[in-house]
Amino acid sequence: MASRTFAIIKPDAVERSLTGRIISWIESEKLKVVALRRMHMTKAEAEGFYIEHKERPFFESLTGYMSSGPCCVAVLEGENAQERWRDIMGATNPNDANEGTIRKELAVGLEKNSVHGSDSEDSAKREISYFFSELEIV
Ligand code: ADP
Ligand code: MG
Repeated sequence: MASRTFAIIKPDAVERSLTGRIISWIESEKLKVVALRRMHMTKAEAEGFYIEHKERPFFESLTGYMSSGPCCVAVLEGENAQERWRDIMGATNPNDANEGTIRKELAVGLEKNSVHGSDSEDSAKREISYFFSELEIV
């Protein structure tokens, strides 16, 4: 059954004009982009999004980076979308990511790792509704 997940093309990728390439990559993997918006997150919006990492030592740097420039937020739909999008992205640290994954091919480093994907079905629901209303998902 088709399901949804949440994705971000992060500021490092948008800045390097990789938006189109990443969207093509998603579509070539048979995931549909059912919502898409370019935005520039405030620090507070980034903190709310990454609230689960509030106690982590990298929280300040991460939320500073995520609010440092425009990103693209998206909802992806397809068979097993949440797990598949994580597989297509690759491991958090691009040095550990498999060949042929987005992070292996495009990421700058551990923080500037180009893309975000929800880590569970529950996170996907929370993250989608943090950025999109149901009416914007088509
Ligand atoms: P993922 O994005 O793969 O789900 P996490 O949820 O663990 O990874 O972390 C969220 C984001 O925080 C990562 O994508 C990365 O940008 C950044 N990050 C994670 N771990 C570190 C770290 N040790 N140092 C700096 N940034 C990190
Ligand atoms: Mg995560």
